[in-house]
Amino acid sequence: MNYTKEIEIAKDYVREFSKNREDLEENLTEKVLTAFRNHRVADMHLKSSTGYGYDDVGRDTLEEIVAEVFKAESALLRQQIASGTHAISLALFGALLPGDEYVSIGTPYDTLQKVIGAKNHVPCSLVEMGVRYREIDVDFENISYEQITSELNEDTKLVGIQRSRGYIWRNSLSITEIGKIIEAIRKKAPKAIVFVDNCYGEFVEDREPLEVGADMIAGSLIKNAGGGLAPSGGYIAGRKDLVDRAAARLTAPGIAKEVGSSLSSQRLYYQGFFMAPMIVGEALRGAVFTAALFNELGFEVSPKATDGRYDIIQGIRLGTEERLNAFCRGIQKYAPVDSYVTPVGWDMPGYNSKVIMAAGTFVQGASIELSADAPVLEPFNVFLQGGLSHKHTQIAVTNTLYDMAEQGLL
Ligand SMILES: *Cc1c(COP(=O)(O)O)cnc(C)c1O
Repeated sequence: MNYTKEIEIAKDYVREFSKNREDLEENLTEKVLTAFRNHRVADMHLKSSTGYGYDDVGRDTLEEIVAEVFKAESALLRQQIASGTHAISLALFGALLPGDEYVSIGTPYDTLQKVIGAKNHVPCSLVEMGVRYREIDVDFENISYEQITSELNEDTKLVGIQRSRGYIWRNSLSITEIGKIIEAIRKKAPKAIVFVDNCYGEFVEDREPLEVGADMIAGSLIKNAGGGLAPSGGYIAGRKDLVDRAAARLTAPGIAKEVGSSLSSQRLYYQGFFMAPMIVGEALRGAVFTAALFNELGFEVSPKATDGRYDIIQGIRLGTEERLNAFCRGIQKYAPVDSYVTPVGWDMPGYNSKVIMAAGTFVQGASIELSADAPVLEPFNVFLQGGLSHKHTQIAVTNTLYDMAEQGLL
């Protein structure tokens, strides 16, 4: 089998998707460009700094640009933020004090379970510090806004919303839905801080969560907002008091945003943020191709090729562990870096089951580059994301398919 027909159909879906995204990409690019121009970005901003990093104009200006683009009062964007989990953790530890109630809309991403520490005792977790935590069980296919309102109270200090699906077979949230959830929250808990985990969501739609009423967002720079070029880092944006509190957790109270040198060149962060709307578009095109191709072959996929897309993740239900392993091996094999490596499931820190990860990336673990992750669990869903060029995704996924067919797995 050479699957020529299915591949052609999948490419047609990508063309259709591209047509619909074109105006959005132009608008997003213009929004970013305007922020760069407003801040008179010059060569002097694109440098590194040392020591305390006092008056690091490159660092400070980029934070102002990110605040402008995400419609925030303030932003913290730092190389020293080690990951998305770290950024979210800083946001939460900054905002919450002992005795405060934190309510999550649905179950948060795996690594955050440890940050929260509700299930098992985790040293330094929010619960150990005395935060009261609970979850509202939400059906993301059919959100009941009344239920969200009814399960909150005036006492709730912070409500967490996750925009992306993470490793869960659920819908990601559109900005419109996030806005409606926030409306439902405000009815009962008008003063609660609404925090949105923005990982994988940046530049997918025309607006960001702060524009529909969120108070604070956080994300990773080795996902969407780094545009594939940022070599590390994370960001927090939103209300100034909350960003300042998160900064005090990152460095120290009193010095907060004033310190933190840019050890690697700011050029990669500026250029990555500038490219991000287009890079996110490439990732989305690759996801549409994969959805269409596997759907044509009879696999359940989420989202489908023509569904609305609110994050860059593509879920494929592969059904067996053999297929899951073969899929991840294929994505690794057709990567530009580490193509000779065989990925295997392992007990990754912060995750609840074994996880298999295929990532042949220039930046270690960067999931804005083509990567596939899966908890090794029934029904063996794999989550594919990223891809700096959708042509690479098409080549990698197509060849993975051929390899799987050759092994009798289709
Ligand atoms: C990736 C991700 C995180 C954590 O980011 P890391 O950089 O992997 O620590 C948190 N939430 C969501 C929804 C994510 O996709």
